[in-house]
Amino acid sequence: MKANPISPTIPLDQDGVHHGFLKLPYSRDDSAWGSVMIPLTVIQNGKGPTALLTGANHGDEYEGPIALHELAATTRAEDVTGRLIIVPAFNYPAFRAGTRTSPIDKGNMNRAFPGRPDGTVTEKIADYFQRTLLPLADVAVDFHSGGKTLDFVPFAAAHILDDKETQKACFAAMKAFNAPYSVELLEIDSVGMYDTAVEEMGKVLVSTELGGGGSSTARSNAIAKKGLRNVLIHFGILHGEMQVDDTINLSMPDDDCFLFSEGDGLYEAMFDLGQPVSKGDVVARVWPVDRTGQTPQEYRARRDGLLISRHFPGLIKSGDCVAVVGVTEI
Ligand SMILES: [Zn+2]
Repeated sequence: MKANPISPTIPLDQDGVHHGFLKLPYSRDDSAWGSVMIPLTVIQNGKGPTALLTGANHGDEYEGPIALHELAATTRAEDVTGRLIIVPAFNYPAFRAGTRTSPIDKGNMNRAFPGRPDGTVTEKIADYFQRTLLPLADVAVDFHSGGKTLDFVPFAAAHILDDKETQKACFAAMKAFNAPYSVELLEIDSVGMYDTAVEEMGKVLVSTELGGGGSSTARSNAIAKKGLRNVLIHFGILHGEMQVDDTINLSMPDDDCFLFSEGDGLYEAMFDLGQPVSKGDVVARVWPVDRTGQTPQEYRARRDGLLISRHFPGLIKSGDCVAVVGVTEI
């Protein structure tokens, strides 16, 4: 396979704190010999595990970039045993545009794996992670939130995998993250996901959904920072005491957890995030926007559980995710 065109401007394997970039040549109208400069920090101190830490896999999700910028700016080499590879904005062009996907090629990073060294900008970044950065890692933490169109209760997630040994290590790391909610997921459509790339290499993945709406809050940022620190302590890369609070365990075992809109309209939430719902409850209504005197379309829960995600904007389109119900573990 061809070499990837990305080069780091700092060493990936030397002790100390190094701040630089992943430099991806990208010739374009406004910069003939230009590059995409993806911020990167590597902090290494001796031998030990490597954590690969990413935010803004989707460009409009902010808890990860905030927690990772703080970690990069405040961690000293002597605080670490092993190595931190910190990329606060995985899909950097999308992050700069404030959009989920890249404005350059419309690439969704979490559908671009394993990527291509001779593909689009998004595919080249994916390929560099697949073939260069991930093989260096023992654990990957990839921060997500709902972005502009979804909102979530704050949770860390781990996948149900065929490889039970990897699954066990992923669940232990999710528990260490200790978000207010912990969710086990059976991924229905895992092709192209970064998560799948990590897990198929037998590495530990912690993923999150920490909020949404296209911004972050004091609470969601605090959850991101605490969880990140806890995971790094769990792996022995940082030292100190983990902060452990109560977590609510949930699962998303099948399609019945998800409700999708079958029309355009005005979104009315009937429950708020975190509230218990029963099978048959109307969790949202969608009013027609173009006439009065009509009844709204009702969307009913297909399982008992907690409302863990909802459509965020006030208007909704056909096909949009209305809400997600998480199942409380018995
Ligand atoms: Zn995301």
